[in-house]
Amino acid sequence: MGIFDDVVLNAKNAAQNVGKMAGQLVDMSKLRISLSEINGEIGRRFTELGQFVYEAKKTGVVDDAILAEKLAGIDDLYAQTAQISEQLDVLQNRSTCPVCGKKVAQDAAFCSACGAKLVREEPTPAEENEPCCCCEEAPKAEEKPEEEKPGE
Ligand SMILES: [Zn+2]
Repeated sequence: MGIFDDVVLNAKNAAQNVGKMAGQLVDMSKLRISLSEINGEIGRRFTELGQFVYEAKKTGVVDDAILAEKLAGIDDLYAQTAQISEQLDVLQNRSTCPVCGKKVAQDAAFCSACGAKLVREEPTPAEENEPCCCCEEAPKAEEKPEEEKPGE
């Protein structure tokens, strides 16, 4: 036991980490593909909707139920694209500026587009890393090994 288990565990962890990295790349390209597919579908739906409205205007007959269904379908697709871009943002360490909606680096303090101050959502790390104020000695200032000898 012990050592062997540790080795197995470490190998497992390493494999999982590599798998995670590769998985992320696969996820990203998959997400990008579905994003463009959904955007294409949205375009088709709008063409359809335009045709529907055109015919409705021409004939004077508007089936509100069908119209509502078409609108809901497009809303659905928009919701899907929003979800996918959110996932892509997470994978790329990006977030969206709450003020202008532009993509910004997750660790940015200010938006590069509008300059808004960005508040980070992640909580501050636990304070247990802080040295204790009563038992930790203040670091001594290092003495300079070289002495200046003026007048040489
Ligand atoms: Zn902004």
